[in-house]
Amino acid sequence: MKAFEAANHYISKASRIMTLGPRVERLLLSLEAEHHVSIPIERDNGELAVFSGYRFQHNSARGPTKGGLRFHPKLDADDVRALAALMTWKTAVVNVPFGGAKGGIACDPAQLSQGELERLTRKFVERISQEIGPQRDIPAPDVNTNAQVMAWIMDQYSRLHGFAPAVVTGKPVELHGSEGREAATGYGVICVAENFLHDVGESLKGASVAIQGFGNVGLFAALFAHECGAKVVAVSDVSGGVANRDGLDIPGLVEFARSRRLLAEYQGDGVSRITNDALLTYEVDVLIPAALGGVLTRDVAREVRAKVIVEAANAPTVPEADEVFEQRGITVIPDILANAWTQNLQCLRWTEEEVNGRLRQIMTAAYGTIRGLVQSRKLGWRTAAYIVALGRVAKAAMLRGV
Ligand code: NAD
Repeated sequence: MKAFEAANHYISKASRIMTLGPRVERLLLSLEAEHHVSIPIERDNGELAVFSGYRFQHNSARGPTKGGLRFHPKLDADDVRALAALMTWKTAVVNVPFGGAKGGIACDPAQLSQGELERLTRKFVERISQEIGPQRDIPAPDVNTNAQVMAWIMDQYSRLHGFAPAVVTGKPVELHGSEGREAATGYGVICVAENFLHDVGESLKGASVAIQGFGNVGLFAALFAHECGAKVVAVSDVSGGVANRDGLDIPGLVEFARSRRLLAEYQGDGVSRITNDALLTYEVDVLIPAALGGVLTRDVAREVRAKVIVEAANAPTVPEADEVFEQRGITVIPDILANAWTQNLQCLRWTEEEVNGRLRQIMTAAYGTIRGLVQSRKLGWRTAAYIVALGRVAKAAMLRGV
């Protein structure tokens, strides 16, 4: 199953339970717009290189679309469609007045100089500048994009349309970005994990946690889990991972990763090497996939030894694996709830404490709504989350009219 088909599989499943009917389902299964652009840039050696760029808008019934920009060599249109759809369901799950979009460039930033990356980003904005905007579609960071990339986007867009910091989220604080934005997704993931463990009579304090991916999301998830007293026993990045049954030195690893080094080079007392595959089947209380999609396949799912999986990455579990987890009684807190934090208001000066307080409130409310459905209708968490999201989007779409 390709990524977009997998994303829509869950919609069809929820839609059947809700008896939404084919008319509404058809509307929710398709994207509003797909902008494919080619982006030529001059490389530092004078050669011309042309990259493929995407900005796809899935559904704007509830408000301007928003969603990340991914820079990755394997990015293709099917991935972007799936990721754009996920954003629609996420913004609906946390009930913020936005729709869903996604985009990116098929490129490997590790092979580009800083100057090339900047030229590529600015040219991309030129190509899509009519399609984005604070009231239209708002890009954000995703894999291999960060606050600097968002600053270039904001600047390039502002040169064309006038000063518009609200055109992106995840920009630096000095350019009116939100305090705590970098940490927000990881913080939301840990809030949800905490809520779940509390509900089943356990606690994050003392729980063992393994995290795949040590970037924007995984690093902060590890840090917050550690601050809550969890024992983070394994973490990994693209180069592989490190493990320690007694708990890793997370502040030390965070400092190490911030110096732009890969975990394969990390040395520490009692630390052993672990592959990305082995991390997924490590015996832990909480498994947090926080890297790329599709890593929890059916075969991996049979070997997973976690009590609960909290999906920090987008679409880490393929539908066949979801069924295995259901049969095995392993709870999966889905991406559209776990990593759904997205700030409601643009350009508001909140302190980090205020942001985190609001975040906790919103994530806990979303968690509570979905838990209510899980318990009252005896549904899986993913299905329940889709039912909540679909209900909200379908109502908005019908009220606005086709
Ligand atoms: P990032 O680029 O900051 O970090 C990605 C991490 O994954 C890095 O540590 C990288 O080394 C690692 N990685 C890359 N390829 C890998 C591979 N093949 N195997 C194992 N590890 C690999 O990206 P991010 O922003 O942290 O995003 C991670 C996931 O979270 C993605 O699925 C993204 O869509 C999702 N997400 C991100 C945000 C956000 O705010 N940044 C929000 C919601 C969801």
